[in-house]
Amino acid sequence: MSHTLTKPGSTEVDRKPSAAALEFGQAWEYAPAPESPDHVRIDPKYGLFVGGRWVTPRSGKFFPTVSPSTEQTLAEVAEANAQDVDDAVKAAREAYDKYWSKLRGADRAKYIFRIARAIQEKARELAIVESMDGGKPIKESRDVDVPLAAAHFFYHAGWADKLDYAFQGRRVRPLGVAGQIIPWNFPLLMAAWKIAPAIACGNTVVLKPAETTPLTALLLAKIIEEAELPPGVVNIVTGAGETGAALANHPDVNKVAFTGSTDVGKRIQRAIAGSTKRLTLELGGKAANVVFADAPLDQAVEGIVNGIYFNQGHVCCAGSRLLVEESVHDIVVKKLRDRMHTLRLGDPLDKNTDVGAINSKAQLQRIRELVDAGEKEGAERFSAPCRIPDKGFWFAPTFFTGASMSSRIAREEIFGPVLTIMTFRTPDEAIEKANNTMYGLSAGIWTDKGAKIFYMATKLKAGVIWGNTYNKFDPSSPFGGYKESGFGREGGRQGLSAYVEVE
Ligand code: ADP
Repeated sequence: MSHTLTKPGSTEVDRKPSAAALEFGQAWEYAPAPESPDHVRIDPKYGLFVGGRWVTPRSGKFFPTVSPSTEQTLAEVAEANAQDVDDAVKAAREAYDKYWSKLRGADRAKYIFRIARAIQEKARELAIVESMDGGKPIKESRDVDVPLAAAHFFYHAGWADKLDYAFQGRRVRPLGVAGQIIPWNFPLLMAAWKIAPAIACGNTVVLKPAETTPLTALLLAKIIEEAELPPGVVNIVTGAGETGAALANHPDVNKVAFTGSTDVGKRIQRAIAGSTKRLTLELGGKAANVVFADAPLDQAVEGIVNGIYFNQGHVCCAGSRLLVEESVHDIVVKKLRDRMHTLRLGDPLDKNTDVGAINSKAQLQRIRELVDAGEKEGAERFSAPCRIPDKGFWFAPTFFTGASMSSRIAREEIFGPVLTIMTFRTPDEAIEKANNTMYGLSAGIWTDKGAKIFYMATKLKAGVIWGNTYNKFDPSSPFGGYKESGFGREGGRQGLSAYVEVE
């Protein structure tokens, strides 16, 4: 495969790795170490999973799902129209009325445990398909997405027979049918986040995965089929925005759970306003990673890299703004640049890959547009000198220094491996700058002083705050946002309340 060099950094000096970078990375070419997809079975065509069966869509339409790293079509997937969605909601309603709402919690738990175990058994296959369909490095899908997806089913299976204790002596009952719409950044994990609490609480589900990453949700449907979950408890319908809108607007859906862009979230909120539907929205973010001068700087740099580059920045909680105390700005930038020289971008199935493919052409264009805007607005750009494969959608890890708070790169969600670095002098200035955003999903604090972490955590307007770490998740820990990052929590006891009526 031939390669071209990415757009160089802003200065000659930037392009050269320092001695440290040479010592730790660039000097060593890694031999390819790809996971083999040979034993993975992807069907050429997938129907809809409705009422426990695989059905041909009434629409008669299918669309391709494409690997963003090779641009090859992986499979054809059904495009559900409003009638198909109606069939799925009817199947979910029937399953709710007939069995699921009547089953004892302990029996629901048995099914959910079974799903969790099957995810673990099929972990390798799921990780490979996730990386092929979504472009993320196998390191991430293997070590983060798939184990966490299993963990969410295990965790919620544990709650299924203890719900009356989750709300301090009050009784709870399920809501009914949940319509769930998820994005492309964590396809399997988001499906698990949505399905596990819903069915643990006794609801039934119609889930719509994102149109660019439907495959692992469809593999999950196969797992659910093998786990012999009663037909219709979980239904999976594929399609794009119109399918999602048909699901959110369906009159027999009692609860809508959406993760995706703030724009679509607002549209859904407007569409269902005035109805009795319950709603949770997990939307965009523009998280600040705040690095104090007393922080362990090497650890902080690793956290910054993890927060914005390891997942191509395809994380709503990505640490896309770095606020660094002025006195250590230059040293942090230098360390970061050195580390970026050692990042390996390329084949998502290679176990050494740090940065995978951008999920779609459209997303790549959006990243390019915002990066161009950053340059036009006068910020200084550095892009890691990665080799970009000829095929597929890629963007080299990039950061900007000298950006103003009002610039687009400091305000808008880029959803790519692009970091905007700014400085502060006092904790209060850091708080003011970190909170100066329409979003409020997450934040990171790096300091040697525990008291400073607590002080900052009480002032930062973000749903999730990490101290001396970043992007760590656990099913017992609620996740969700403030302001335009949405409302409602997923995970933990708080996440259960989105799926029950407390009496
Ligand atoms: P992203 O920018 O992360 O792709 P989107 O909000 O566009 O986020 O997409 C997230 C999910 O919402 C996808 O499954 C997508 O198909 C779905 N979607 C897009 N438009 C609508 C809509 N109008 N109503 C409901 N769902 C939608």
